[in-house]
Amino acid sequence: MSFRAMYDGHCAAECGNRIHPGDEVEYDEDRKLHHLECTPKPDPTTLGPQEIVCPDCWLVKPCRCDDD
Ligand SMILES: [Zn+2]
Ligand SMILES: [Zn+2]
Repeated sequence: MSFRAMYDGHCAAECGNRIHPGDEVEYDEDRKLHHLECTPKPDPTTLGPQEIVCPDCWLVKPCRCDDD
């Protein structure tokens, strides 16, 4: 669901450019704004088996939490 930005911001997608009022933008799953034409960062739920995010420390596994 896109809308026109009302304030200056910073694109959370790869482009890293500024968002200007009037730009067509949308929120990603983390509630961060990015330009409509920019690809949002991958959803954590779509990461491959090598990139499971630990729910305790939020690092990609394997992490220290697995060491017991
Ligand atoms: Zn962008
Ligand atoms: Zn962990």
